[in-house]
Amino acid sequence: MMTTLLNGGMVLCLGQADRVFDRGYVVVEDDRIAAVGDVAELPASRVYDQEIDCRDRLIMPGLVNAHTHTPMTLFRGQAEGVSLLTMDGWYNTIRVLELVMTPDIVPASVAVACAEMIRTGTTTFADQYFYMEQVTPVVAQSGLRAALAYGVVELGDPAAQARELERLDAFLEDIGTHPSGRLKGWVGPHAFFVDNSVETMARERLLARKYDTGLHIHISTTSEEDDYCRAHFGMTAARKMDDLGMFDQPVMAAHAITIPQEDWHLLATKPFTAVVAPSACMRAGADAAPVVGMRAAGINVAIGTDNVCNNNDYDLFLEMRLVAKLASFREKVPGALLARDVIEMATAGGARALGLENEIGELTPGKKADLILLDRTGIGWAPLPTNDPFTALVYSVNGSSVTDTMVNGQWLLRDRQWTTLDYPAAVRQQGEDVRRLMRLRQQAGV
Ligand SMILES: [Zn+2]
Repeated sequence: MMTTLLNGGMVLCLGQADRVFDRGYVVVEDDRIAAVGDVAELPASRVYDQEIDCRDRLIMPGLVNAHTHTPMTLFRGQAEGVSLLTMDGWYNTIRVLELVMTPDIVPASVAVACAEMIRTGTTTFADQYFYMEQVTPVVAQSGLRAALAYGVVELGDPAAQARELERLDAFLEDIGTHPSGRLKGWVGPHAFFVDNSVETMARERLLARKYDTGLHIHISTTSEEDDYCRAHFGMTAARKMDDLGMFDQPVMAAHAITIPQEDWHLLATKPFTAVVAPSACMRAGADAAPVVGMRAAGINVAIGTDNVCNNNDYDLFLEMRLVAKLASFREKVPGALLARDVIEMATAGGARALGLENEIGELTPGKKADLILLDRTGIGWAPLPTNDPFTALVYSVNGSSVTDTMVNGQWLLRDRQWTTLDYPAAVRQQGEDVRRLMRLRQQAGV
């Protein structure tokens, strides 16, 4: 058994107990947390395989980025001034590139994405895209925990529907036996009613049930789905999804900006998570999601960065800050969300969305050792005696404070150095990939 002692740091346990130790310790045994407490109570006689001096460090659960599209790191900078939340904006900037890209272009961009998440304190993420066969090996190598949703885009083409559903089935079959134990396959309808028909959704639901997993979708970026559903089915999108039995399986719904208030109570009774991604929405000129209202109604809310064409980074600390500020801005109430609540959304909220609430999201004996260390000597933390650490995490520091990242008891970042991925090499390869993509685009004349 491998044992690690993280000694002398400020420990934020979060979760049910929600304890804070000013000078605390964490003991990790293999892939799990074995003990957490105050250093004054640390048994003196025990010897550990690895002992890390954590004075000046804050130790907390790793963050859960609940909505990403990692291969789209390839397109960073390609959608400036365009909203990807509209059909035209998405199709004319991103879809045209997706139509000429090749599978071998994907891995380096996924490696860049994973490395940036590891560097900024994310330990679990929920991805949604096609080319999942290329995504999976890179995520496995990265050491991150992930829910990988195979994205289905059909756009009314029956051949695409049949092909994509077949690939989705094969992907779920394959990943179900992945040896890492950290990866789970999900079903990823790109967007209901926009480019996934009712028949496709019904079949996606059956596949989710067959493999005992959930659906990771986009919903209510505008009132587009609700208008469509009211016109065609005489009910809102959420009611139609309920009608189709979509909520029999867990559903993670990215954006959730315009879900009618009359549907909040229905969704609160379902295994439904609203994943807010404020950077992408703000840059797209969309509204702020009603986070305060949805939480008050009992809906689980998590936080995601979305793609980095409309964000453009993977730093979930910056995303937490926007969630907090936008809530006050939208409600016209100072401190509409407590800093602790926002951190809860980015940890336990994401864990609940993925069905991992018994495994991650808090530092408690028995949970998985998914944690991060932050340097409290850097900018944004002072004055240390009076600047509450929760407030600092949400309002004055960012992912650059993260020095170390552990998932499943394995270090993915030590002293700001990646241990599982070669970031400079991935960036170099990505540079070559994007030049080739531009040539392919030119040849295709799109
Ligand atoms: Zn998205």
